[in-house]
Amino acid sequence: MRPIDVASRSGVALRRAFQAQQLHRVAGSRQYSNVTSLPPTYEKLHNKYSEVRRVLGAQRLTLAEKILYSHLDNVEESLLNNTNNGRDIRGKANLKLKPDRVNMQDASAQMALLQFMSCNLPQTAIPASIHCDHLIVGSKGAEDDLQAGIQTNHEVFDFLESAAKKYGLDFWAPGAGIIHQTVLENYAVPGLMMLGTDSHSPNAGGLSTITIGVGGADAVEALVGAPWELKAPKVLGVRLTGKLSNWASPKDLILHLAGLLTVRGGTGYIVEYSGPGVETLSCTGMATICNMGAEIGATTSIFPYTEASARYLEATRRGQAVKNAAAFQSFPGVGASEDAYFKFKADEGAQYDELIEIDLSKLEPHINGPHTPDLSTPLSQFKATVQEQKWPEKLSASLIGSCTNSSYEDMTRVESIVRAAEEAGLKPKADFYVTPGSEQIRATLERDGTLQTFEKAGGILLSNACGPCIGQWKRQDGVEKGTVNAILTSYNRNFRGRNDGNLETMNFLASPEIVTAMAYAGSTTFNPVTDSLTTPDGKEFKFPAPHGLEGPKTPFDIGKDVFKVASQPPNPNEQVAIAPTSERLALLEPFEPFPESDLSGLKVLVKVSGKCTTDTISAAGPWLKYKGHLPNISANTLNTAVNAETGEVNVAYDLDGSKHTIPELAKLWKERNQPWLVVAEHNYGEGSAREHAALQPRYLGARIIVCKSFARIHETNLKKQGVVPLTFVNEQDYDKIVAGDEVATVGLYEMLQNGGQGEVQLKVTKRGNGEEILIPVKHQVSKDQAGFILAGSALNLLSKSVSV
Ligand code: SF4
Repeated sequence: MRPIDVASRSGVALRRAFQAQQLHRVAGSRQYSNVTSLPPTYEKLHNKYSEVRRVLGAQRLTLAEKILYSHLDNVEESLLNNTNNGRDIRGKANLKLKPDRVNMQDASAQMALLQFMSCNLPQTAIPASIHCDHLIVGSKGAEDDLQAGIQTNHEVFDFLESAAKKYGLDFWAPGAGIIHQTVLENYAVPGLMMLGTDSHSPNAGGLSTITIGVGGADAVEALVGAPWELKAPKVLGVRLTGKLSNWASPKDLILHLAGLLTVRGGTGYIVEYSGPGVETLSCTGMATICNMGAEIGATTSIFPYTEASARYLEATRRGQAVKNAAAFQSFPGVGASEDAYFKFKADEGAQYDELIEIDLSKLEPHINGPHTPDLSTPLSQFKATVQEQKWPEKLSASLIGSCTNSSYEDMTRVESIVRAAEEAGLKPKADFYVTPGSEQIRATLERDGTLQTFEKAGGILLSNACGPCIGQWKRQDGVEKGTVNAILTSYNRNFRGRNDGNLETMNFLASPEIVTAMAYAGSTTFNPVTDSLTTPDGKEFKFPAPHGLEGPKTPFDIGKDVFKVASQPPNPNEQVAIAPTSERLALLEPFEPFPESDLSGLKVLVKVSGKCTTDTISAAGPWLKYKGHLPNISANTLNTAVNAETGEVNVAYDLDGSKHTIPELAKLWKERNQPWLVVAEHNYGEGSAREHAALQPRYLGARIIVCKSFARIHETNLKKQGVVPLTFVNEQDYDKIVAGDEVATVGLYEMLQNGGQGEVQLKVTKRGNGEEILIPVKHQVSKDQAGFILAGSALNLLSKSVSV
């Protein structure tokens, strides 16, 4: 695509903004009335930003801070409380934010909407959308799979559609696309702030939109118009220089970064990209990088607005947004100093808490995995690593696409190498699957012939849905559960069992180009940059370096009518569809409030060792179907957790020594009214923003999780459901506590009553000899969160405050 001359396309909005600018200069007052010439979103942003500047003066701000702070409910209260008069905001301030919209995927939307319904409001306070993407199985191909998915899940889709009609939400039907791709194509606009009930929501940061992955309870806060709270993140700067070349792609940047920072490195940070290298990236490439910021635990990631962002907006038929963004960036604020202009980039001289420099020209392709996205190996060393680690050399399947990597650029780059291989008479040796991220991208790739190239090569086109990325992959290649095998995907996550439910499948993450080229070799030791293949007529074939187009030459095709969004005003007469006999959906019963004393008589249900991700706590795959039915889905709680004392998976022992699965024992204890806690190691709850991982333990009777450290979203989710997350002051205290020990809290009730102020200890009575020990623990409970815990859950508190 040719760059677009934004100035020559300036329209009415921009002219009006410039006129307003002149008026403003003449008036020279602190009135904001002239901003009404900006579109409403930017008018609001302008007014809040002016307040931020009034409070923080000439303080240099990163782009993330500018957008985030300009979404505060009360700027002064959030930025000046406990922050050394605004000098020390990051990591200290509790930001109470008012997002512009909420996006929800079908699996998490069920619980979010069930919670929203408990508040008895006639409509949502801000715009929101529902995307039916997670429940569609990938198996035989798009058409069959979509039909089967609709048939199997019609009850859930009917529920979501009826709730969308009742409360006035946008509804994207099954097959319309994957949430993050659809959001990027339709809702992301520079300067906006969104919440998404999915951990890869930061994808929209590729278009300078702050988007944070949250659980359903957080989404409900925004949906009812209450402020949503976030500890002010630190900002990790990544300065890019140079330009990607040959086989290196945006995916390789984030794969490399994941290797540098590990799955915990971004915790508590927003990752903000800057530097001249940014200007060389496509908008969708930037989105890929932001998408996988979730893999380093970042709160979110963001790129500045560039010419490529404007080109993407034009290509997705949003030329007006380009004009609005230009008008807004030229609109002066109070006093018309340089700082009064809101630019979609960091202020000159803004400081980062940490800064990483990456020269894109030196970046080589990377392959990350197996089983964790931060085990990063440069392609040049991958063959040796495979052999050294004795990973399978046979490649079983290659899967490209998903919300992470199905852009026009990705797919046309892949097309270039597929064409070259076809011309040489080669076919992929491993199964080759393609998942378009949305109907729009699918239809455009079909219009432009790219999909036909893949299908001619033997590629299997899956529906525009998550499918194999979320355990919804019914494999057709006969690889049985328990069989060690290797697959390559251009997805973003590769925890055990994530794709096909087989814990022994090793998923290696790479760019779509590398994933595809390796399918032709059928081998994990093939290096497409240096190695050759033999063609059927005995010649040597070496892949050319991939090349593609940033976007289509004419705007994106919007695809089939049936997949268009259903936007509607709220209809109070609409009945939300939930059958009383349903096994998929169940209305929620409120959790009981915190007792008016410290907790006592708790027992340790299980002590787990190693990784305990949200997949471990609440597995996806076949369990996705119970997302709207808390009692039914709770039967998977911690069912892949490793018992630290015995090494067994999904095994826990009752006080009489009888052996159970972990969820069975939890259910037994719930029936006996025996409250319990879990003891765990580091980064408990890493992975997807899965609130079921907090809801299920709570439903079954958990009151505390104590561990060495938490993943941010999960820690928040626990508090919202009334479970107290605590961490050991001394990590070695993990060794002092075992299953069956009795636990009482000391200081917890007082701390909660004092709005999160105060110290807490655990009094542990050892099961064997009755010995008592005191274990000091830490907490991150804010005033609001203390209120949630005391009320029994955030929802209990919220439904009281908004009841009509
Ligand atoms: Fe769907 Fe996978 Fe993207 Fe999540 S990461 S939205 S499961 S495609």
